[in-house]
Amino acid sequence: MTEILALEDTHTSGAYAKRPVAMVRGEGAILWDADGNRYIDGVAGIGVANVGHNHPVLTAAVLEQLDRLTICHEAFYSDQRARFLHELTQRTPGDLDRVFLCNSGTEAIEGAIKVARYFTGRTDIVAHKRAFHGRTMGALSLTWNHKYRDAFQPLLPGVSHVPLNDVEALEAEVTERTAAVVLEIIQGEGGVWPADPEYLNAVRHLCDEKGVLLVVDEIQTGMGRTGKWFACEHFDLLPDVLCLGKALGGGIPMGAVVWRESLGQLPTKSHGSTFGGNPLACAAGRAVLRILTDEDLPGRAATLGEQFVRELRGIKSTRIREIRGRGLMIGVDLRSRVGPVIKALMGKGVLVIPGGPTVLRLLPPLVIAEEDLAGIVQGIADVLRELNEDPSGG
Ligand SMILES: *Cc1c(COP(=O)(O)O)cnc(C)c1O
Repeated sequence: MTEILALEDTHTSGAYAKRPVAMVRGEGAILWDADGNRYIDGVAGIGVANVGHNHPVLTAAVLEQLDRLTICHEAFYSDQRARFLHELTQRTPGDLDRVFLCNSGTEAIEGAIKVARYFTGRTDIVAHKRAFHGRTMGALSLTWNHKYRDAFQPLLPGVSHVPLNDVEALEAEVTERTAAVVLEIIQGEGGVWPADPEYLNAVRHLCDEKGVLLVVDEIQTGMGRTGKWFACEHFDLLPDVLCLGKALGGGIPMGAVVWRESLGQLPTKSHGSTFGGNPLACAAGRAVLRILTDEDLPGRAATLGEQFVRELRGIKSTRIREIRGRGLMIGVDLRSRVGPVIKALMGKGVLVIPGGPTVLRLLPPLVIAEEDLAGIVQGIADVLRELNEDPSGG
């Protein structure tokens, strides 16, 4: 394994805080490293592998499509794309029926910014504090954390950030120049902070009243993660524009901007992507939709998520401040920094990621076995106890 780490370190960009382990194989919610060590995966590629690693239906669909046709620009029609668009929009709520396909989450946000500007003829965007929407220059302008932004100013003009769940602040910020309000139903990267139902209701009404588009970023919360296909469905909230990514292609890069049919279509040449809507990604996306449906993974996320939170709440540790989330998108907010906890968990074969400085973010594959979820709970309980026993421990 040391050879792999050294090779990668010699050439890697430096943009990532890396953990000293090289993964070589996965199955369901289990990963193996190059030395054969086994891990319970509470990360899922950061909410990508909702259907699990190496799902046989997804693998077969991708292999079959590789054998037929990998690339077909949207200047031509594609059998896989046509069927994927149909099947996806059968699932998206309301008249969210127009789709621009791209290759990542940040590109979906870039697309949504253009859609909002085009259909409203306005320029400004209201985003939220603690929000994460990606790292290309447009999406970065909507992302809140100064650590991501500071070195890259100036960013897009006309973007402001209001605190999530503060209706008055939002009302004060929306003007006749506002094209869109952008939000995550549960802020992921920011620390698993949910939007209040009353706030979502107020945002929808304010947007309707002021002719502003409501852009909902479900790049992390979508595709069954929170216990419904899309987190907005917990609240009967119909977005004007829905951004998807992460789990959409099950690991094959894919993003989508989906907007209401009533808004209309973009004019030709106003947007584009060489790889967007390629038949390989569309075949993968179709397999993901089929697996989520056939295995009722949104329902499984709801049931397992409740059980998971109950077990996590059973951990008796003064280090736990709060447990938040929905379905299998859970944050364990600690009274200390998460770094040492995450490192110690990896030593016990449990992988989790942070969501901000004090939150353990848990995003396991929705196919995870109950005993592996219990393994994550046990790992967290053991690590928190051991850190308390060790006076130098974090
Ligand atoms: C991950 C994420 C993005 C960015 O997606 P990339 O594919 O990494 O560009 C945007 N918004 C949310 C809510 C995310 O979780």
